[in-house]
Amino acid sequence: MNIVSRINNIKQTLPAGVRLVAVSKYHPASLIQEAYDGGQRIFGESHVQELVAKYEVLPKDIEWHFIGHLQTNKVKYIAPFISLIHAVDSEHLIKEIDKQAKRCQRTIPILLEVHVAKEETKYGFTPDELLAFMESGTWQQYTNVSIAGLMCMATNTDDETLIASEFERAYQLFKQIKEKFSPVTGEPDGICSWGMSNDYLIAVAHGSNMVRIGSLIFGERVY
Ligand SMILES: *Cc1c(COP(=O)(O)O)cnc(C)c1O
Repeated sequence: MNIVSRINNIKQTLPAGVRLVAVSKYHPASLIQEAYDGGQRIFGESHVQELVAKYEVLPKDIEWHFIGHLQTNKVKYIAPFISLIHAVDSEHLIKEIDKQAKRCQRTIPILLEVHVAKEETKYGFTPDELLAFMESGTWQQYTNVSIAGLMCMATNTDDETLIASEFERAYQLFKQIKEKFSPVTGEPDGICSWGMSNDYLIAVAHGSNMVRIGSLIFGERVY
C-alpha cells in the first residue's frame, strides 16, 4: 500500500475534527512530497536540523509541527516558520520562544507537555506542576506565544486500560485549565495532542483532537 492510501485509511478512522500530524522524522523529503501530493499538509518532525533542511526544499504551504524535545538554543532556527511546537515543558523554553517569535514578528502557538505516563522521563510538567504554572500567571507576559492546548504521551505498553487512563487524565486536566484560564488563543476548541501509531484510537476516545502518526504511514524508521 502506498503512503497516500495509508493516510486515507487512517483518516477514515478519525472522528470529524481530529487532525492528523504525519510524523515524517527520519524519512526523506521525497516521501513527504508524496504525502503532500496526496493532500496531506501537516507534518511533524523532532530534530531541528532535519526539519530546517526539509523546510527549505519542500512546498511552503506545509504546516510544520515540532514534536520533539526542543533545546532553547535551537528555537531561533525554526521560529520563522514553525506552525506549532508540541512538547513545551518549561518557562525557560517559553521565554525563548517568545523572544524569537518577537524577532520574527509572529505569535507562535505552543502546547504544554504533561507527563501522565508511568514511565520515568525528565520531560513534561507533572499535572501538579502544570496547574501551578498556570496559576502563577507568569505565562501571560509572553505575548508572542499562545498556549493552544496540551500534549502528552502514554506509557509504551499493551495495557490498553492503562493507556486510556493516562489519556483521560490529560483530558480532564485540559478541561480544567481551559475552563479556568482559557489560554486558548486562535484555537476555538483548544488542542489535545495525543495518540501515536499504536494508541491513537484510544487517544481519540479520550479527548484527543490531534494525533501524531509516523510508522503507520511511512513504515518503520531507520535511525
Ligand atoms: C516519533 C513520534 C511520534 C510518532 O510515533 P509512531 O509510533 O511512529 O506513530 C509521535 N509523537 C512523538 C512525540 C514522536 O516523537
